[in-house]
Amino acid sequence: MTGNGSDSEPSALVIGGGLAGIAAAGRLAESGWRVTLLEARTSLGGRAFSFADRESGVELDNGQHVIVGACRNLMEFLERIGVSDLWHVQPRLNVDVYDRAGRGGKLYGLGGPAPAHLLAAFITYRHLSLGDKLRAVRGVIAAMRANRSAPEMETTSFYDWLRAHGQSERCIYNLWNVIIEGTLNDNIRDVSAAMGLMITQDGLLQGRREINIGHPLVPLGQAIGAPCEAYLHDLGVRTLLGCPAHAVEASADGRVQRVVAGGGREWSADVYVSAAPFWVLPGLIPDRLAEQAPFNSLTGLRASPIVNVHLEYDRPVMDGDFCYFLDNPLQWVFNTSRIRGSDPRRDGQLLAVSISAAWDHIDLPRAELADRIAEEMRAAFPRARQARLVRSIVVKQRNATFRCTPGAQRMRPGPVTASPNLFLAGEWTDTGWPSTMEGAIISGYNAAAAVMSRFGAAPGTAEEKSGRPMV
Ligand SMILES: Cc1cc2nc3c(=O)[nH]c(=O)nc-3n(C[C@H](O)[C@H](O)[C@H](O)COP(=O)(O)OP(=O)(O)OC[C@H]3O[C@@H](n4cnc5c(N)ncnc54)[C@H](O)[C@@H]3O)c2cc1C
Repeated sequence: MTGNGSDSEPSALVIGGGLAGIAAAGRLAESGWRVTLLEARTSLGGRAFSFADRESGVELDNGQHVIVGACRNLMEFLERIGVSDLWHVQPRLNVDVYDRAGRGGKLYGLGGPAPAHLLAAFITYRHLSLGDKLRAVRGVIAAMRANRSAPEMETTSFYDWLRAHGQSERCIYNLWNVIIEGTLNDNIRDVSAAMGLMITQDGLLQGRREINIGHPLVPLGQAIGAPCEAYLHDLGVRTLLGCPAHAVEASADGRVQRVVAGGGREWSADVYVSAAPFWVLPGLIPDRLAEQAPFNSLTGLRASPIVNVHLEYDRPVMDGDFCYFLDNPLQWVFNTSRIRGSDPRRDGQLLAVSISAAWDHIDLPRAELADRIAEEMRAAFPRARQARLVRSIVVKQRNATFRCTPGAQRMRPGPVTASPNLFLAGEWTDTGWPSTMEGAIISGYNAAAAVMSRFGAAPGTAEEKSGRPMV
């Protein structure tokens, strides 16, 4: 059996090198644990990754990743791994929103205390009538006062909650859905009121900074994957890439004994943290564990798809960094060239169309999807009609994020399991956040905190003197 160091020191084995596993491994290693991380793929970053396009060699993201000022743990993490300067956060919310007729409106954040900081966003926003603006203000005030932890919030959809609080269809689709569709990657009719209110209360209403939108300035592999590898390396974490865990073996009392990984190699440690996706984990653990809580609830979780279409034009067709299209399959369009600081007159212009809740697109043949999107681009961007589309690359992510449907919250376990030495991380665990990088980081920290709270000691701490950790 391949172990993780000497028998006298507590050790942790983390399965999965997405942000959750990285955060858990980092936190444990920073606290003195000897950590090994197994990642199935050949790079870190999990669902936030980039790849080199085969034809052009250009590094493309699997999907545009956006953050908001409210992602405090993520921002602190980016600082910690030394890449804050590779991410840009708007100094104030500023989003151009276009309707089908090409009319523009602006969501713009102001200074001042909440909810006054949102008022300018409504004033400059042309896609709501005066009546709808007043309704929106009433909706925001109701959301501010709502108790999102009340049981009925988990059984009601956010759409129904908004209707019950005087929001018109136009208000819902031209305002609330602009926020919800992207952040929860689902239709506003399908998400719980609890999660819709979470986005509103913790994202929109916390203050001016919290609503500012941010994004990486470089491909995700450079903004997350590679720096995370360096960060874990510096902490002494043994990171094994291309090393999928095949089975987690446990004794009759549920205590994990070892993990069987790629190449038949076996790894043992004092504690194990699974940061694998919720659809992978049940297949790794013994059936008798999978049948018990909390693992048996995971079959009730569902995922929703995101499709990204990267479009390279031979000349500039778009000006700003990003914009949103109402009632349009384009949804969000990001100006990758501008964001990355490349010169479109020399290199052509690379844009990314990011389609959330992509139920209507995920099963379309790629060529058909690319054609449809290119046509919508010509309708939306007059300069795209003259430009030559050099290439288009479709990236489909079927299991992009877990769904926050009514009732889903009950399926999300905390970090502690029925097994005394198996802990859970993953953005799908109970973090209070939807499927986001922020949620992934929180889940990793929660798992590390649970390990340390149960085991107490770690090498380098005062308790270490007592020897092996106590279960
Ligand atoms: C297209 C797209 C766009 C998104 N946009 C945003 C956004 O704008 N903002 C935002 O905050 N979030 C966004 N997300 C969501 C965000 O990427 C995820 O919520 C987050 O990265 C999940 O992190 P995680 O570590 O919990 O899970 P994952 O990233 O899925 O990590 C799990 C890891 O486990 C590994 N693994 C699986 N099986 C095994 C095994 N048997 N052995 C070892 N390793 C294994 C996987 O390879 C993976 O690396 C987006 C996601 C997608 C797909």
